[in-house]
Amino acid sequence: MVEHMKWWGWGQEGVSFHHEDKPGLAPFVLERVDLDLHGPGAPVPDFAKFSVPPSQAPGPLREALVAAVGAGHVVDDDLDRVVHAYGKSLRDLVRIRRGDFGRVPDLVVYPGTEQEVEAVLRAALDADAVVIPFGGGSNISGSLEAPRAETRPVLSVDMGRMNALLEVDETSQVARIQAGALGPHLEAQLNGRGWTLGHFPDSFKHSTLGGWIATRSSGMQSDRFGDIADITRAVRVVTPKGVVATRNVPSQSTGPSVREMVLGSEGRLGIITEATVQVHRIAEERVILAYFFPDYGSGLRAMHDIAASDASPSITRVSDANETAFTFATSKKSSGLSAMLSRGVKLYAQKRKGMDLSQMCLSFIGFEGSAAHVKRSRTLVGEIVAKHGGFCVGAGPGKLYDQKKFDTPYIRDFILDRGAIGDVSETSSTWATLETVHDNVVAAANRAFDQIGVKGFIFCHLSHSYHMGACQYFTFAYVASGRRDELEEYDIVKGAIQQAFIDNGATLSHHHAVGREHSRWWEQDVSPAGAAIVRTLLDGVDPGRNLNPGSIT
Ligand code: FAD
Repeated sequence: MVEHMKWWGWGQEGVSFHHEDKPGLAPFVLERVDLDLHGPGAPVPDFAKFSVPPSQAPGPLREALVAAVGAGHVVDDDLDRVVHAYGKSLRDLVRIRRGDFGRVPDLVVYPGTEQEVEAVLRAALDADAVVIPFGGGSNISGSLEAPRAETRPVLSVDMGRMNALLEVDETSQVARIQAGALGPHLEAQLNGRGWTLGHFPDSFKHSTLGGWIATRSSGMQSDRFGDIADITRAVRVVTPKGVVATRNVPSQSTGPSVREMVLGSEGRLGIITEATVQVHRIAEERVILAYFFPDYGSGLRAMHDIAASDASPSITRVSDANETAFTFATSKKSSGLSAMLSRGVKLYAQKRKGMDLSQMCLSFIGFEGSAAHVKRSRTLVGEIVAKHGGFCVGAGPGKLYDQKKFDTPYIRDFILDRGAIGDVSETSSTWATLETVHDNVVAAANRAFDQIGVKGFIFCHLSHSYHMGACQYFTFAYVASGRRDELEEYDIVKGAIQQAFIDNGATLSHHHAVGREHSRWWEQDVSPAGAAIVRTLLDGVDPGRNLNPGSIT
Protein backbone atom coordinates (compact mmCIF):
# COMPACT_ATOMS: atom_id res chain seq x y z
CA MET A 1 0.00 0.00 0.00
CA VAL A 2 1.49 3.36 -1.05
CA GLU A 3 1.02 6.23 1.42
CA HIS A 4 -0.32 9.55 0.14
CA MET A 5 -0.92 12.93 1.70
CA LYS A 6 -4.38 14.47 2.17
CA TRP A 7 -5.96 15.08 -1.22
CA TRP A 8 -6.80 18.66 -0.23
CA GLY A 9 -3.74 19.81 1.71
CA TRP A 10 -0.41 19.16 3.34
CA GLY A 11 0.52 16.09 5.31
CA GLN A 12 -1.21 13.30 7.07
CA GLU A 13 -5.01 13.07 7.22
CA GLY A 14 -6.18 13.98 10.72
CA VAL A 15 -3.13 16.11 11.55
CA SER A 16 -3.47 19.89 11.48
CA PHE A 17 -2.05 23.07 12.97
CA HIS A 18 -3.33 24.49 16.28
CA HIS A 19 -2.61 27.87 17.79
CA GLU A 20 -4.31 27.53 21.18
CA ASP A 21 -1.11 26.29 22.82
CA LYS A 22 0.84 29.24 21.35
CA PRO A 23 -0.63 32.23 23.16
CA GLY A 24 1.50 34.81 21.37
CA LEU A 25 0.50 33.81 17.86
CA ALA A 26 -3.08 35.10 17.52
CA PRO A 27 -2.23 38.66 18.70
CA PHE A 28 0.89 38.66 16.52
CA VAL A 29 -0.97 37.61 13.37
CA LEU A 30 -3.78 40.07 14.07
CA GLU A 31 -1.30 42.90 14.42
CA ARG A 32 0.86 42.00 11.40
CA VAL A 33 -1.74 40.94 8.80
CA ASP A 34 -5.17 41.66 10.31
CA LEU A 35 -6.06 37.97 10.46
CA ASP A 36 -8.15 36.77 13.40
CA LEU A 37 -7.06 33.21 14.13
CA HIS A 38 -10.01 32.74 16.46
CA GLY A 39 -12.37 33.05 13.51
CA PRO A 40 -13.90 29.87 12.12
CA GLY A 41 -11.95 27.98 9.46
CA ALA A 42 -13.43 26.55 6.28
CA PRO A 43 -14.56 22.96 6.77
CA VAL A 44 -12.54 20.12 5.24
CA PRO A 45 -13.71 19.97 1.61
CA ASP A 46 -16.13 17.17 0.85
CA PHE A 47 -14.73 15.16 -2.04
CA ALA A 48 -18.16 13.72 -2.85
CA LYS A 49 -19.44 17.21 -3.70
CA PHE A 50 -16.91 17.72 -6.49
CA SER A 51 -17.10 16.34 -9.96
CA VAL A 52 -13.97 14.75 -11.35
CA PRO A 53 -13.46 14.59 -15.13
CA PRO A 54 -13.80 10.92 -16.13
CA SER A 55 -10.76 8.87 -17.10
CA GLN A 56 -10.19 8.92 -20.86
CA ALA A 57 -7.68 6.07 -21.02
CA PRO A 58 -8.13 4.04 -24.20
CA GLY A 59 -8.71 0.30 -23.76
CA PRO A 60 -5.53 -0.92 -25.51
CA LEU A 61 -3.32 1.36 -23.37
CA ARG A 62 -5.01 0.16 -20.20
CA GLU A 63 -4.52 -3.46 -21.30
CA ALA A 64 -0.84 -2.90 -22.07
CA LEU A 65 -0.35 -1.31 -18.63
CA VAL A 66 -2.16 -4.15 -16.89
CA ALA A 67 0.10 -6.57 -18.76
CA ALA A 68 3.11 -4.54 -17.56
CA VAL A 69 2.35 -4.16 -13.84
CA GLY A 70 -0.74 -6.25 -13.05
CA ALA A 71 -4.38 -5.20 -12.79
CA GLY A 72 -4.10 -4.20 -9.13
CA HIS A 73 -1.49 -1.59 -9.97
CA VAL A 74 -3.38 0.31 -12.68
CA VAL A 75 -5.88 2.59 -10.95
CA ASP A 76 -8.62 4.84 -12.34
CA ASP A 77 -10.29 5.64 -9.02
CA ASP A 78 -11.31 9.35 -8.88
CA LEU A 79 -9.70 10.10 -5.51
CA ASP A 80 -6.42 8.45 -6.47
CA ARG A 81 -6.39 10.36 -9.77
CA VAL A 82 -7.01 13.69 -7.99
CA VAL A 83 -4.25 12.97 -5.44
CA HIS A 84 -1.90 12.70 -8.43
CA ALA A 85 -3.18 15.79 -10.28
CA TYR A 86 -1.06 18.39 -8.46
CA GLY A 87 1.74 18.88 -5.96
CA LYS A 88 1.40 21.05 -2.84
CA SER A 89 2.10 24.57 -4.02
CA LEU A 90 -0.08 27.39 -2.73
CA ARG A 91 -1.72 27.50 -6.17
CA ASP A 92 -2.40 23.76 -5.94
CA LEU A 93 -4.00 24.13 -2.50
CA VAL A 94 -6.26 26.97 -3.68
CA ARG A 95 -7.32 25.11 -6.83
CA ILE A 96 -7.94 21.81 -5.11
CA ARG A 97 -10.19 23.51 -2.52
CA ARG A 98 -12.19 25.01 -5.40
CA GLY A 99 -12.60 21.63 -7.05
CA ASP A 100 -10.49 22.88 -9.94
CA PHE A 101 -8.55 19.69 -10.58
CA GLY A 102 -7.05 20.65 -13.96
CA ARG A 103 -6.16 17.87 -16.38
CA VAL A 104 -6.55 14.95 -13.99
CA PRO A 105 -4.43 11.90 -14.95
CA ASP A 106 -6.50 9.21 -16.63
CA LEU A 107 -4.69 6.41 -14.87
CA VAL A 108 -2.29 6.03 -11.96
CA VAL A 109 0.24 3.25 -12.50
CA TYR A 110 2.30 1.69 -9.70
CA PRO A 111 5.31 -0.21 -11.09
CA GLY A 112 7.25 -2.50 -8.75
CA THR A 113 10.50 -3.06 -10.65
CA GLU A 114 12.71 -1.31 -13.19
CA GLN A 115 11.56 -3.80 -15.83
CA GLU A 116 7.97 -2.79 -15.11
CA VAL A 117 8.90 0.88 -15.43
CA GLU A 118 10.41 0.11 -18.84
CA ALA A 119 7.25 -1.73 -19.91
CA VAL A 120 5.07 1.16 -18.69
CA LEU A 121 7.10 3.72 -20.61
CA ARG A 122 7.06 1.56 -23.75
CA ALA A 123 3.28 1.16 -23.56
CA ALA A 124 2.85 4.88 -22.97
CA LEU A 125 5.04 5.90 -25.90
CA ASP A 126 3.34 3.37 -28.20
CA ALA A 127 -0.01 4.96 -27.30
CA ASP A 128 1.40 8.51 -27.49
CA ALA A 129 0.42 9.05 -23.85
CA VAL A 130 1.83 11.63 -21.44
CA VAL A 131 3.85 10.21 -18.52
CA ILE A 132 4.32 12.11 -15.29
CA PRO A 133 6.59 10.46 -12.72
CA PHE A 134 5.22 10.90 -9.18
CA GLY A 135 7.28 10.65 -5.98
CA GLY A 136 5.62 11.98 -2.83
CA GLY A 137 3.71 14.76 -4.58
CA SER A 138 5.25 17.38 -2.26
CA ASN A 139 6.76 19.78 -4.79
CA ILE A 140 5.73 23.42 -4.67
CA SER A 141 6.85 24.36 -8.14
CA GLY A 142 3.95 23.04 -10.23
CA SER A 143 6.12 20.14 -11.41
CA LEU A 144 3.42 17.48 -11.59
CA GLU A 145 0.42 18.69 -13.53
CA ALA A 146 -0.44 17.85 -17.13
CA PRO A 147 -1.17 20.77 -19.47
CA ARG A 148 -4.87 21.71 -19.18
CA ALA A 149 -5.43 21.35 -22.91
CA GLU A 150 -3.71 17.96 -23.14
CA THR A 151 -5.84 15.70 -25.37
CA ARG A 152 -3.56 12.64 -25.18
CA PRO A 153 -4.03 10.10 -22.38
CA VAL A 154 -2.21 11.14 -19.20
CA LEU A 155 -0.53 8.63 -16.86
CA SER A 156 0.82 9.36 -13.42
CA VAL A 157 3.57 6.85 -12.66
CA ASP A 158 3.69 6.57 -8.87
CA MET A 159 7.04 5.17 -7.69
CA GLY A 160 5.82 4.37 -4.17
CA ARG A 161 6.17 0.59 -4.47
CA MET A 162 9.86 0.93 -5.33
CA ASN A 163 11.06 1.90 -1.89
CA ALA A 164 13.75 -0.58 -0.90
CA LEU A 165 17.30 -0.11 0.32
CA LEU A 166 19.02 -2.48 -2.14
CA GLU A 167 22.60 -2.50 -0.91
CA VAL A 168 25.03 -0.72 1.39
CA ASP A 169 28.69 -0.68 0.32
CA GLU A 170 30.19 -0.06 3.75
CA THR A 171 33.71 0.32 2.42
CA SER A 172 32.82 3.00 -0.10
CA GLN A 173 30.11 4.52 2.14
CA VAL A 174 27.41 4.49 -0.51
CA ALA A 175 23.98 2.86 -0.69
CA ARG A 176 21.78 1.84 -3.61
CA ILE A 177 18.21 2.87 -2.91
CA GLN A 178 15.06 2.67 -5.03
CA ALA A 179 13.72 6.04 -6.11
CA GLY A 180 10.24 5.77 -4.59
CA ALA A 181 11.47 5.52 -0.98
CA LEU A 182 9.96 8.21 1.26
CA GLY A 183 12.32 9.98 3.67
CA PRO A 184 11.32 8.21 6.90
CA HIS A 185 11.24 4.80 5.25
CA LEU A 186 14.63 5.31 3.67
CA GLU A 187 16.22 6.59 6.89
CA ALA A 188 14.69 3.75 8.93
CA GLN A 189 16.25 1.20 6.59
CA LEU A 190 19.64 2.93 6.69
CA ASN A 191 19.54 3.62 10.45
CA GLY A 192 18.86 -0.07 11.01
CA ARG A 193 22.35 -0.69 9.67
CA GLY A 194 23.96 2.25 11.49
CA TRP A 195 23.94 4.66 8.54
CA THR A 196 22.18 7.88 7.55
CA LEU A 197 21.73 9.73 4.28
CA GLY A 198 21.70 13.06 6.12
CA HIS A 199 19.11 14.58 3.78
CA PHE A 200 16.30 16.18 5.78
CA PRO A 201 14.18 18.65 3.81
CA ASP A 202 11.21 20.11 5.72
CA SER A 203 9.05 17.88 3.48
CA PHE A 204 11.09 14.82 4.55
CA LYS A 205 8.09 12.78 5.72
CA HIS A 206 6.27 13.08 2.41
CA SER A 207 8.93 13.25 -0.30
CA THR A 208 11.02 10.60 -2.04
CA LEU A 209 14.59 10.03 -3.15
CA GLY A 210 13.54 10.21 -6.83
CA GLY A 211 11.67 13.46 -6.24
CA TRP A 212 14.65 14.96 -4.39
CA ILE A 213 16.94 14.12 -7.30
CA ALA A 214 14.47 15.31 -9.94
CA THR A 215 14.12 18.69 -8.18
CA ARG A 216 17.68 19.16 -6.86
CA SER A 217 16.47 19.23 -3.29
CA SER A 218 18.36 20.49 -0.26
CA GLY A 219 17.97 19.37 3.35
CA MET A 220 18.50 21.28 6.57
CA GLN A 221 21.86 19.59 7.28
CA SER A 222 23.24 20.31 3.82
CA ASP A 223 26.22 22.19 5.26
CA ARG A 224 27.58 18.83 6.42
CA PHE A 225 26.07 16.28 4.03
CA GLY A 226 25.69 18.39 0.87
CA ASP A 227 22.63 18.96 -1.30
CA ILE A 228 21.06 15.95 -2.99
CA ALA A 229 23.14 16.90 -6.05
CA ASP A 230 26.29 16.17 -4.01
CA ILE A 231 24.85 13.15 -2.22
CA THR A 232 23.71 11.41 -5.42
CA ARG A 233 26.70 9.72 -7.03
CA ALA A 234 25.02 7.49 -9.64
CA VAL A 235 21.55 7.06 -11.12
CA ARG A 236 19.53 4.62 -13.16
CA VAL A 237 16.85 6.19 -15.31
CA VAL A 238 14.37 4.64 -17.73
CA THR A 239 14.24 6.98 -20.74
CA PRO A 240 12.79 6.77 -24.27
CA LYS A 241 16.40 6.08 -25.39
CA GLY A 242 16.84 3.11 -23.02
CA VAL A 243 18.07 2.77 -19.45
CA VAL A 244 20.66 5.38 -18.49
CA ALA A 245 23.08 3.97 -15.93
CA THR A 246 25.82 6.29 -14.77
CA ARG A 247 28.97 4.86 -13.29
CA ASN A 248 29.33 4.47 -9.53
CA VAL A 249 32.50 6.53 -9.08
CA PRO A 250 33.35 9.54 -6.91
CA SER A 251 34.16 11.87 -9.81
CA GLN A 252 34.80 11.60 -13.52
CA SER A 253 36.04 13.49 -16.55
CA THR A 254 33.82 12.14 -19.29
CA GLY A 255 32.41 15.20 -21.01
CA PRO A 256 29.19 16.89 -19.88
CA SER A 257 27.93 14.98 -16.87
CA VAL A 258 24.98 12.68 -17.60
CA ARG A 259 24.41 12.41 -13.84
CA GLU A 260 24.09 16.20 -13.66
CA MET A 261 21.61 16.16 -16.58
CA VAL A 262 19.35 13.87 -14.57
CA LEU A 263 19.61 16.05 -11.44
CA GLY A 264 16.77 18.56 -11.62
CA SER A 265 15.26 16.94 -14.72
CA GLU A 266 11.71 17.01 -13.20
CA GLY A 267 10.61 13.87 -15.02
CA ARG A 268 11.41 15.43 -18.41
CA LEU A 269 14.11 12.90 -19.36
CA GLY A 270 12.71 9.71 -17.89
CA ILE A 271 11.87 7.88 -14.71
CA ILE A 272 14.61 7.52 -12.09
CA THR A 273 14.39 4.00 -10.69
CA GLU A 274 17.30 3.98 -8.25
CA ALA A 275 20.30 5.97 -7.12
CA THR A 276 23.61 5.31 -5.45
CA VAL A 277 23.96 7.83 -2.67
CA GLN A 278 26.61 8.76 -0.12
CA VAL A 279 25.81 7.57 3.39
CA HIS A 280 27.42 8.37 6.73
CA ARG A 281 27.77 6.60 10.04
CA ILE A 282 25.28 8.01 12.55
CA ALA A 283 27.17 10.70 14.40
CA GLU A 284 28.49 10.24 17.91
CA GLU A 285 27.23 13.67 18.90
CA ARG A 286 24.59 16.01 17.50
CA VAL A 287 23.57 19.36 18.94
CA ILE A 288 21.86 22.51 17.66
CA LEU A 289 22.76 25.67 19.54
CA ALA A 290 20.76 28.92 19.47
CA TYR A 291 22.43 32.33 19.26
CA PHE A 292 21.25 35.93 19.09
CA PHE A 293 22.73 38.62 16.87
CA PRO A 294 22.09 42.37 17.16
CA ASP A 295 20.62 42.44 13.63
CA TYR A 296 20.37 40.44 10.41
CA GLY A 297 23.45 42.06 8.85
CA SER A 298 25.70 40.96 11.70
CA GLY A 299 24.14 37.48 11.54
CA LEU A 300 24.92 37.27 7.82
CA ARG A 301 28.50 38.41 8.36
CA ALA A 302 28.94 35.80 11.08
CA MET A 303 27.61 33.02 8.80
CA HIS A 304 30.07 34.19 6.15
CA ASP A 305 32.97 34.03 8.59
CA ILE A 306 31.86 30.59 9.78
CA ALA A 307 31.80 29.33 6.17
CA ALA A 308 35.31 30.67 5.69
CA SER A 309 36.62 29.19 8.95
CA ASP A 310 37.80 25.71 9.94
CA ALA A 311 34.55 25.12 11.82
CA SER A 312 32.29 22.82 9.83
CA PRO A 313 28.81 22.97 11.29
CA SER A 314 25.96 20.83 9.90
CA ILE A 315 23.41 23.65 9.99
CA THR A 316 23.89 27.40 9.66
CA ARG A 317 20.70 29.37 9.93
CA VAL A 318 19.93 32.94 10.89
CA SER A 319 16.49 34.57 10.82
CA ASP A 320 15.87 38.23 10.08
CA ALA A 321 14.14 40.34 12.72
CA ASN A 322 10.64 39.63 11.34
CA GLU A 323 11.19 35.87 11.32
CA THR A 324 12.66 36.04 14.82
CA ALA A 325 9.51 37.82 16.03
CA PHE A 326 7.36 35.19 14.30
CA THR A 327 9.36 32.36 15.89
CA PHE A 328 8.77 33.84 19.34
CA ALA A 329 5.08 34.23 18.55
CA THR A 330 4.77 30.56 17.60
CA SER A 331 6.53 29.25 20.68
CA LYS A 332 4.49 27.26 23.14
CA LYS A 333 3.88 28.70 26.58
CA SER A 334 6.04 26.06 28.20
CA SER A 335 8.67 25.94 25.49
CA GLY A 336 12.37 26.60 25.69
CA LEU A 337 12.03 29.82 23.73
CA SER A 338 9.52 31.57 25.94
CA ALA A 339 11.18 30.20 29.06
CA MET A 340 14.47 31.50 27.75
CA LEU A 341 13.01 34.98 27.25
CA SER A 342 11.46 35.04 30.67
CA ARG A 343 14.80 34.02 32.15
CA GLY A 344 16.07 37.42 31.31
CA VAL A 345 17.70 36.95 27.95
CA LYS A 346 15.93 40.08 26.77
CA LEU A 347 17.38 42.02 29.63
CA TYR A 348 20.84 40.64 28.96
CA ALA A 349 20.59 41.45 25.24
CA GLN A 350 19.38 44.96 25.94
CA LYS A 351 21.41 46.02 28.94
CA ARG A 352 24.64 44.04 28.59
CA LYS A 353 24.89 43.73 24.81
CA GLY A 354 23.13 46.97 23.89
CA MET A 355 20.83 45.22 21.41
CA ASP A 356 17.67 46.77 20.01
CA LEU A 357 15.10 44.02 20.69
CA SER A 358 13.11 44.86 17.56
CA GLN A 359 16.19 44.12 15.42
CA MET A 360 17.54 41.11 17.34
CA CYS A 361 17.94 37.99 15.19
CA LEU A 362 17.77 34.33 16.18
CA SER A 363 20.24 31.86 14.75
CA PHE A 364 20.55 28.08 14.92
CA ILE A 365 23.87 26.41 14.31
CA GLY A 366 24.10 22.63 14.26
CA PHE A 367 27.15 20.51 15.08
CA GLU A 368 27.48 16.87 14.27
CA GLY A 369 30.28 14.31 14.29
CA SER A 370 32.80 13.02 16.79
CA ALA A 371 32.82 14.62 20.23
CA ALA A 372 36.21 16.22 19.44
CA HIS A 373 34.95 17.67 16.14
CA VAL A 374 31.83 19.08 17.78
CA LYS A 375 33.83 20.63 20.59
CA ARG A 376 36.33 22.30 18.25
CA SER A 377 33.63 23.59 15.88
CA ARG A 378 31.57 24.97 18.78
CA THR A 379 34.59 26.85 20.08
CA LEU A 380 35.42 28.34 16.68
CA VAL A 381 31.79 29.32 16.05
CA GLY A 382 31.50 30.82 19.53
CA GLU A 383 34.49 33.09 18.81
CA ILE A 384 33.02 34.22 15.48
CA VAL A 385 29.58 34.86 16.99
CA ALA A 386 31.15 36.99 19.75
CA LYS A 387 33.15 38.96 17.19
CA HIS A 388 29.85 39.91 15.52
CA GLY A 389 28.21 40.99 18.77
CA GLY A 390 26.17 37.80 19.23
CA PHE A 391 25.79 35.42 22.16
CA CYS A 392 24.78 31.80 22.70
CA VAL A 393 21.63 30.80 24.57
CA GLY A 394 22.20 27.05 24.68
CA ALA A 395 20.72 23.91 23.20
CA GLY A 396 17.09 24.07 24.44
CA PRO A 397 15.59 26.12 21.60
CA GLY A 398 17.51 24.11 18.98
CA LYS A 399 16.10 20.87 20.35
CA LEU A 400 12.63 22.30 20.09
CA TYR A 401 13.19 23.57 16.58
CA ASP A 402 14.46 20.13 15.59
CA GLN A 403 11.36 18.46 17.02
CA LYS A 404 8.74 20.74 15.49
CA LYS A 405 10.27 21.41 12.06
CA PHE A 406 8.08 18.86 10.27
CA ASP A 407 4.89 20.25 11.89
CA THR A 408 5.34 23.85 10.70
CA PRO A 409 4.13 23.20 7.09
CA TYR A 410 0.59 22.56 8.37
CA ILE A 411 0.21 26.27 9.14
CA ARG A 412 -0.26 27.10 5.45
CA ASP A 413 -3.54 25.14 5.25
CA PHE A 414 -4.67 26.52 8.59
CA ILE A 415 -4.45 30.16 7.50
CA LEU A 416 -5.75 29.40 4.00
CA ASP A 417 -8.87 28.00 5.64
CA ARG A 418 -9.25 31.45 7.22
CA GLY A 419 -8.83 33.44 4.01
CA ALA A 420 -5.11 34.16 4.24
CA ILE A 421 -2.37 33.38 1.78
CA GLY A 422 0.94 32.13 3.16
CA ASP A 423 3.73 30.95 0.93
CA VAL A 424 7.49 30.79 0.42
CA SER A 425 10.11 31.67 -2.19
CA GLU A 426 13.77 30.87 -1.88
CA THR A 427 16.96 31.72 -3.70
CA SER A 428 20.72 31.71 -3.43
CA SER A 429 23.32 34.37 -4.07
CA THR A 430 26.88 35.32 -3.19
CA TRP A 431 28.02 36.45 0.26
CA ALA A 432 28.66 39.87 -1.29
CA THR A 433 25.01 40.27 -2.34
CA LEU A 434 22.97 38.52 0.36
CA GLU A 435 21.97 41.61 2.30
CA THR A 436 21.08 43.62 -0.82
CA VAL A 437 19.04 40.69 -2.15
CA HIS A 438 17.24 40.48 1.19
CA ASP A 439 16.44 44.18 1.39
CA ASN A 440 15.37 44.44 -2.26
CA VAL A 441 13.16 41.36 -2.09
CA VAL A 442 11.46 42.66 1.05
CA ALA A 443 10.95 46.05 -0.63
CA ALA A 444 9.53 44.39 -3.78
CA ALA A 445 7.11 42.31 -1.69
CA ASN A 446 5.98 45.37 0.27
CA ARG A 447 5.32 47.26 -3.00
CA ALA A 448 3.28 44.28 -4.22
CA PHE A 449 1.26 44.24 -0.95
CA ASP A 450 0.54 47.96 -1.49
CA GLN A 451 -0.43 47.32 -5.10
CA ILE A 452 -3.09 44.80 -4.13
CA GLY A 453 -4.08 46.84 -1.08
CA VAL A 454 -3.33 44.37 1.72
CA LYS A 455 -1.37 44.44 4.95
CA GLY A 456 1.34 41.91 4.17
CA PHE A 457 4.17 40.43 6.15
CA ILE A 458 7.42 38.98 4.83
CA PHE A 459 10.30 37.40 6.67
CA CYS A 460 13.43 35.48 5.79
CA HIS A 461 16.21 33.27 7.02
CA LEU A 462 19.58 32.28 5.67
CA SER A 463 20.21 28.55 5.50
CA HIS A 464 22.49 26.25 3.49
CA SER A 465 25.88 28.00 3.47
CA TYR A 466 28.51 27.44 0.80
CA HIS A 467 32.03 28.65 0.12
CA MET A 468 30.74 31.57 -2.00
CA GLY A 469 27.29 32.33 -0.65
CA ALA A 470 24.08 30.94 0.80
CA CYS A 471 20.38 30.37 0.35
CA GLN A 472 17.80 32.86 1.61
CA TYR A 473 14.30 31.55 2.27
CA PHE A 474 11.43 34.07 2.32
CA THR A 475 7.99 33.46 3.80
CA PHE A 476 5.13 35.86 3.15
CA ALA A 477 1.53 36.15 4.27
CA TYR A 478 -1.49 38.42 3.86
CA VAL A 479 -5.26 38.21 3.94
CA ALA A 480 -6.71 38.03 0.43
CA SER A 481 -8.41 41.35 -0.30
CA GLY A 482 -11.53 39.83 -1.85
CA ARG A 483 -11.41 42.47 -4.57
CA ARG A 484 -9.68 40.21 -7.12
CA ASP A 485 -9.32 36.51 -7.68
CA GLU A 486 -6.99 35.29 -4.93
CA LEU A 487 -4.61 33.60 -7.40
CA GLU A 488 -4.39 36.80 -9.46
CA GLU A 489 -3.34 38.66 -6.29
CA TYR A 490 -0.97 35.88 -5.34
CA ASP A 491 0.71 36.12 -8.77
CA ILE A 492 1.43 39.81 -8.16
CA VAL A 493 3.18 39.14 -4.85
CA LYS A 494 4.95 35.91 -5.80
CA GLY A 495 5.93 37.44 -9.18
CA ALA A 496 7.42 40.52 -7.53
CA ILE A 497 9.56 38.38 -5.22
CA GLN A 498 10.76 36.06 -7.98
CA GLN A 499 11.54 38.98 -10.29
CA ALA A 500 13.51 40.66 -7.50
CA PHE A 501 15.65 37.51 -7.23
CA ILE A 502 16.49 37.66 -10.92
CA ASP A 503 16.99 41.44 -10.99
CA ASN A 504 19.45 41.21 -8.10
CA GLY A 505 21.62 38.50 -9.60
CA ALA A 506 20.18 35.72 -7.43
CA THR A 507 18.67 32.50 -8.79
CA LEU A 508 14.98 31.70 -9.32
CA SER A 509 15.28 28.78 -6.90
CA HIS A 510 17.98 27.26 -4.72
CA HIS A 511 16.07 23.99 -4.12
CA HIS A 512 12.39 24.16 -5.10
CA ALA A 513 12.94 23.59 -8.84
CA VAL A 514 11.38 25.26 -11.89
CA GLY A 515 8.16 23.40 -12.71
CA ARG A 516 5.44 25.58 -14.16
CA GLU A 517 5.50 27.99 -11.22
CA HIS A 518 8.93 29.40 -12.00
CA SER A 519 9.26 28.64 -15.71
CA ARG A 520 8.74 32.24 -16.80
CA TRP A 521 11.99 33.24 -15.08
CA TRP A 522 13.94 30.19 -16.26
CA GLU A 523 15.41 31.61 -19.46
CA GLN A 524 16.44 34.83 -17.68
CA ASP A 525 18.18 32.69 -15.08
CA VAL A 526 20.07 30.23 -17.29
CA SER A 527 20.53 32.61 -20.29
CA PRO A 528 18.84 32.18 -23.70
CA ALA A 529 21.71 30.06 -25.04
CA GLY A 530 21.66 27.90 -21.91
CA ALA A 531 17.91 27.41 -22.30
CA ALA A 532 18.41 26.45 -25.96
CA ILE A 533 20.88 23.72 -24.96
CA VAL A 534 18.49 22.28 -22.39
CA ARG A 535 15.57 22.39 -24.87
CA THR A 536 17.71 20.57 -27.44
CA LEU A 537 18.50 17.89 -24.87
CA LEU A 538 14.86 17.46 -23.85
CA ASP A 539 13.63 17.44 -27.46
CA GLY A 540 16.30 14.93 -28.46
CA VAL A 541 15.44 12.50 -25.69
CA ASP A 542 11.69 13.03 -25.86
CA PRO A 543 10.73 14.33 -29.32
CA GLY A 544 7.02 13.68 -28.75
CA ARG A 545 6.95 15.70 -25.50
CA ASN A 546 5.49 12.68 -23.73
CA LEU A 547 7.45 13.13 -20.51
CA ASN A 548 5.95 15.68 -18.13
CA PRO A 549 5.56 18.33 -20.87
CA GLY A 550 5.55 21.92 -19.66
CA SER A 551 7.61 21.44 -16.54
CA ILE A 552 10.74 23.64 -16.73
CA THR A 553 9.96 24.58 -20.39
P1 FAD B 1 7.11 15.05 -6.47
O1 FAD B 1 6.50 16.27 -5.94
O2 FAD B 1 6.27 13.84 -6.56
O3 FAD B 1 7.72 15.35 -7.91
C1 FAD B 1 8.53 16.46 -8.13
C2 FAD B 1 9.12 16.39 -9.53
O4 FAD B 1 10.01 15.28 -9.60
C3 FAD B 1 8.09 16.14 -10.63
O5 FAD B 1 8.51 16.79 -11.78
C4 FAD B 1 8.14 14.64 -10.84
O6 FAD B 1 7.74 14.28 -12.14
C5 FAD B 1 9.61 14.36 -10.61
N1 FAD B 1 9.87 13.02 -10.08
C6 FAD B 1 9.47 12.49 -8.90
N2 FAD B 1 9.94 11.23 -8.79
C7 FAD B 1 10.63 10.97 -9.93
C8 FAD B 1 11.33 9.83 -10.42
N3 FAD B 1 11.44 8.71 -9.72
N4 FAD B 1 11.90 9.92 -11.64
C9 FAD B 1 11.83 11.04 -12.38
N5 FAD B 1 11.18 12.14 -11.96
C10 FAD B 1 10.59 12.10 -10.75
N6 FAD B 1 12.32 20.95 -0.90
C11 FAD B 1 13.58 20.94 -0.48
O7 FAD B 1 14.48 20.69 -1.27
N7 FAD B 1 13.90 21.23 0.80
C12 FAD B 1 12.95 21.49 1.73
O8 FAD B 1 13.27 21.71 2.89
C13 FAD B 1 11.59 21.46 1.31
N8 FAD B 1 10.60 21.70 2.19
C14 FAD B 1 9.31 21.67 1.77
C15 FAD B 1 8.30 21.90 2.69
C16 FAD B 1 6.98 21.88 2.29
C17 FAD B 1 5.90 22.14 3.28
C18 FAD B 1 6.65 21.61 0.95
C19 FAD B 1 5.22 21.59 0.51
C20 FAD B 1 7.64 21.36 0.03
C21 FAD B 1 8.98 21.40 0.42
N9 FAD B 1 10.01 21.15 -0.47
C22 FAD B 1 11.31 21.17 -0.05
C23 FAD B 1 9.71 20.87 -1.87
C24 FAD B 1 9.56 19.37 -2.19
O9 FAD B 1 9.37 18.61 -1.04
C25 FAD B 1 10.75 18.90 -2.97
O10 FAD B 1 10.72 19.50 -4.24
C26 FAD B 1 10.89 17.39 -3.11
O11 FAD B 1 12.17 17.13 -3.63
C27 FAD B 1 9.86 16.75 -4.01
O12 FAD B 1 9.94 15.35 -3.86
P2 FAD B 1 8.67 14.42 -4.14
O13 FAD B 1 9.10 13.02 -3.97
O14 FAD B 1 7.52 14.86 -3.36
O15 FAD B 1 8.45 14.71 -5.69
